Amino acid sequence: MFARSWFRRPADHAVEIPSPRDEVHQGNGSARITPQPNSVSAGMISQPFTADHDSHVDASHESTNGSEVSDLLHEREQIVDRIKHLRASTDAYASEFVEQILDFAHRVKTSDLHLQPTANGLEVRFRSDGVLHRLGEFPAGASSSVVSRLKVLSSLLTYRSDVPQEGRIDSSPRPGGNASSATNTTEIRVSTYPTLHGERAVLRFFGHGNQYRHLSDLGHSAEVTESLTDCLAETSGAMIICGPAGSGKSTTLYAALRHLVQETSGSRNLMSLEDPIEVPLDGVSQSQVNAAAGFTLQAGLRSLLRQDPEVIMVGEIRDPETASIAIQASLTGQLMLTSFHADSTVVAVSRLLDLGLEPYLLRSSVIGICCQRLLRKLCHCAVESRDSTDHFGLPIEWCRKPLGCDDCNETGYRGRVIASEFLSLRDAGHAAEILDTKDSRTAYRIAVDAGMKSIWECATDLVREGVTSPAEVRRVLGVTMRI
Ligand SMILES: [Zn+2]
Repeated sequence: MFARSWFRRPADHAVEIPSPRDEVHQGNGSARITPQPNSVSAGMISQPFTADHDSHVDASHESTNGSEVSDLLHEREQIVDRIKHLRASTDAYASEFVEQILDFAHRVKTSDLHLQPTANGLEVRFRSDGVLHRLGEFPAGASSSVVSRLKVLSSLLTYRSDVPQEGRIDSSPRPGGNASSATNTTEIRVSTYPTLHGERAVLRFFGHGNQYRHLSDLGHSAEVTESLTDCLAETSGAMIICGPAGSGKSTTLYAALRHLVQETSGSRNLMSLEDPIEVPLDGVSQSQVNAAAGFTLQAGLRSLLRQDPEVIMVGEIRDPETASIAIQASLTGQLMLTSFHADSTVVAVSRLLDLGLEPYLLRSSVIGICCQRLLRKLCHCAVESRDSTDHFGLPIEWCRKPLGCDDCNETGYRGRVIASEFLSLRDAGHAAEILDTKDSRTAYRIAVDAGMKSIWECATDLVREGVTSPAEVRRVLGVTMRI
């Protein structure tokens, strides 16, 4: 029987846990795992993607209650047991293995699955609440065929294992799998990468959870929520949601679209161009790019502009051409909603300038930028600390720090909360100053002095309220852009 401590381990604790490998390999009964900062567990290779997936992680920040955690524990025990009974020597091993792990991923709504070949076999990890967890290490000799099976399913070249490849598993029912609704609505992106012991694969799941959230339910402060709704009342301009991968950007974008659907009751033409469509929304004409067929983000956006849109949501701006078309559109009578991979609001501004956009264009088009992060919430078992070493340099007198109990599987955390900041560029004076400042730190200072409540301040307030811990703030926000 597993201890309940595998799930949502606090980043600053080392915990002795039974390892699923032991069930497979009849090992010595436990593994010591010391999770590292920045969501990467010990010994884990860093993520190959940084910019192009996001809200698929959001589903996990809904998994906040104890029964879901118990379900996850149960599912995990079951999958390890099932894989243990697969015979690695048979031809069917790879397809059965893949079917099992995909089924597991759908059941627990994980955002990512990592398959890492090791000297002894294939190690499988999955991400939950933004943190990687180990599922187990499975018999050696199977890794190449398991990854090959994934390559077949995602239409990659199976005879090329010496170069990285990217593909997707069609969201239609899996061969041999259940045609469940979850399977049908989830897109899976597959990335392979050659490593020392063979090809590593990362699977990213989009559309899990399919949650219906509204702007006021997201957990942004009243101030940020009001700024967001103010922007949505505009008929032109661009509103940008930024943050790193896994910060819940798409959840906020979808909530913004839902807000518009409700507010406009069909009187505005709402269109989206996404890659991929993560959540189907009534009242919005959604399209998914298909680069292989020439329906790229850039080409699609140009054609979309001839469809008389009034509000356009572009999943994410990633390249100069998309940025240019999107910004031009926002200047000509369309409200543009999009996300952008940047660590803070002012970094988003400087990165957009780096993409070749002229400051005057940004000044007249971007009406607001929201930057957000997800922080794990402390469980009720948290304890008070006045020891400054627990404060991680935050300007606080006391804090609560994680302890661990049955309810939180000894991790000290349950669920996640948003920390965010909103930079309004509608005040021409401050906008000009920020856009003309080359140094992000100086620009950030100008924004804060102009009244923006920084994400650090927001996170520090959450610590003061005992919602999260300084260690979690440090893990998620790092040390950058602290003013
Ligand atoms: Zn607890």
